[in-house]
Amino acid sequence: MTEPRSPADHVDFAGARCYAVPLRTRFRGITVREGMLVEGPAGWGEFCPFPEYADREAAAWLATAVEQCAEGWPEPVRDRVPVNCTVPAVGPDRAHDIVARSGCRTAKVKVADHGDSLAEDLARVAAARDALGPGGAVRVDANGAWDVETAATRIRALDRAAGGLEYVEQPCRTVEELAAVRRRVDVRIAADESIRRAEDPLRVAVAGAADVAVLKCAPLGGVRRALRVAEAAGLPCVVSSALETSVGLAAELALAGALPELGFACGLGTLSLLAGDVVAEVLRPVDGYLPVPRTPPTPDPALLDAHAPTDPERAVWWRNRLARVRGLR
Ligand SMILES: [Mg+2]
Repeated sequence: MTEPRSPADHVDFAGARCYAVPLRTRFRGITVREGMLVEGPAGWGEFCPFPEYADREAAAWLATAVEQCAEGWPEPVRDRVPVNCTVPAVGPDRAHDIVARSGCRTAKVKVADHGDSLAEDLARVAAARDALGPGGAVRVDANGAWDVETAATRIRALDRAAGGLEYVEQPCRTVEELAAVRRRVDVRIAADESIRRAEDPLRVAVAGAADVAVLKCAPLGGVRRALRVAEAAGLPCVVSSALETSVGLAAELALAGALPELGFACGLGTLSLLAGDVVAEVLRPVDGYLPVPRTPPTPDPALLDAHAPTDPERAVWWRNRLARVRGLR
């Protein structure tokens, strides 16, 4: 008896390519984005769990890559996806400039960068609103920095300064705190860091902790799996990138393109954070939209060579990691 064939059997893992692309600015404590690209019968896929993730967690990222390169994606229901621009913790003039130049109708503004940030946060969201005009949407992301009391006070103040917030992303760290904040403010709460594994969106929904779920298909195990998670959660969803190259970003776009409802702009305009890419035609937003690809983009051989890790030890590390994660069952 032979084992039944699985989609992964058709992937050319031996020919996997490693990449190391510098970031324009430090993000999540890293300065270089690393990962692997693998080819299968449906095109190329990207395997890029962050270095500190355990093999068990990385297995979902591998499933996303295998789906992409061996099976392809489900049919989309839209051709293009609105994306937000991202305003880091900068002064109001710079914030205004970033939003005005982006062409996007939604701005995601970083707040709570440090404990005493309120005055700066208020000026930054007001500048974003000024740049967008009344028809645009301003959301803020606190990345879990506040306690419940601080969140309730600051969200009300930011909502006034922004002339209405679309939502606040991850005001506090835990699901219980999100639920407590949600009971105290009128602004929608979005869960981002609270949703990293397939079971989390359900917990967030059951706990009444959020109005919106931020999904990334890479850590959820692929587009089909993420669609099932979205359906089970029963919350409006926003798709966000895991800081992939254009190859992996295409899977996130395929998810955004296939969600039955998409009421919010997605956090997929992230290639501008990378100082390079592995494809010649980079997925950059035009007039605030990205196209939904039908098939994964193909890496450019010269760019693969150009972005190969300069330290050969890193390529060995990634090959060993891929072999370990493939061996899990
Ligand atoms: Mg976030």
